Amino acid sequence: MWNKLLSLWEARGWQAVLGHLSHTLAPERLGPSLTERIFWRADVNEPVVALSFDDGPHPTFTPRLLDILEKHDVPATFFLIGRYVRRHPDIAQRIAAGRHEIGNHTYHHRIMPLLPGKMLEHEICTTHELIREATGREAQLLRPPMGLFTRRTVDVIEACGYKTVVGDVYPRDPNLPGTERIVSRVLRRTRPGSLIILHDGGNTRSVDRSQTLTAVDRIIPELKKRGFRFITLSELIEKDKMSESIQSGSS
Ligand SMILES: [Zn+2]
Repeated sequence: MWNKLLSLWEARGWQAVLGHLSHTLAPERLGPSLTERIFWRADVNEPVVALSFDDGPHPTFTPRLLDILEKHDVPATFFLIGRYVRRHPDIAQRIAAGRHEIGNHTYHHRIMPLLPGKMLEHEICTTHELIREATGREAQLLRPPMGLFTRRTVDVIEACGYKTVVGDVYPRDPNLPGTERIVSRVLRRTRPGSLIILHDGGNTRSVDRSQTLTAVDRIIPELKKRGFRFITLSELIEKDKMSESIQSGSS
């Protein structure tokens, strides 16, 4: 039965639809009280930008992506799925060996708002332990699968010691819109302080991230040419906090 559901999911692209809806609707619906708890983008004037990749580690695409990032000498943040870390701890290790960051993307990649509290904790904590075992890193940033969360979800994420992160530039690369479109969507929407969401893995049976990888190889030099500097997500969050304290100090 699971296989049948899974193939339906893949065939109809429901995941992409959900991802699209959630990314478009979530910030507005949650209101100002929640937006401060979730990191979307940094409020800065400096041309800094952070890259993030979800749903790995993937045995084919993550190593290829790491080569591309190395070639361009830029850091990125990888939101890893726990059960794939369990399967490919060596790839998680290779990510950590670079100057990249590792975030938590839960164990099964399920819709967080549908899970009871205990299960949510389990999804987060198991992944935390697997990341620590594989890389020695204590992850602190969590991106909810498909960008779906509620106030309760964020409460649990924070109780587990994590900051909830989404992002503001998402070209919906898992829909396979074509390399050209991924590049143009990112370039059109990136501004100072942006957090770009892309995918090096996937939680469906067939995963092809060639489009994303080719796009990344073009996006990085183009953004550099436009004066952008690539920093890690933690650095981006730090800059956001600093600009916040300057603003509140001056008012
Ligand atoms: Zn994901």
